[in-house]
Amino acid sequence: MPDELRGSCLCGSVTYECGGPPRVALHCHCRSCQKTSGSGHTTILVVSADDLQVTGTLSFHQREADSGNTVTRGFCPACGSDIYSQSSGHEGQVYLRASSLDDPNLAMPAMAIYADQAIAWDHMDEGLPRFPGMPQ
Ligand SMILES: [Zn+2]
Ligand SMILES: [Zn+2]
Repeated sequence: MPDELRGSCLCGSVTYECGGPPRVALHCHCRSCQKTSGSGHTTILVVSADDLQVTGTLSFHQREADSGNTVTRGFCPACGSDIYSQSSGHEGQVYLRASSLDDPNLAMPAMAIYADQAIAWDHMDEGLPRFPGMPQ
């Protein structure tokens, strides 16, 4: 995956640049991702918080995860597009929504997580390792 990524929300009032390579990209099949995406899973790039520069104003929604960590999800208040989320258990990491990338083809998912919450009609890539929850 490339060292530099750019993306935006649907209406363009929030844009971002990520100046470092993602640590990993993955599919997340958890219920939160289903509810917020309107589909069976999200595709996420794990990037360093220090590398991400957001322009524009995000709104945030907070929720306690099963782990007890607080998950904060940032989205555009004008158009509702999800841009990223963060977990209180991993302060230095940002989970960037691949759907917001200018070129989503740049994401190269390497695994599927929360596979135990996957919906039957959301067929998973047979070639990728699956983890029932969050990999340890
Ligand atoms: Zn927007
Ligand atoms: Zn998820």
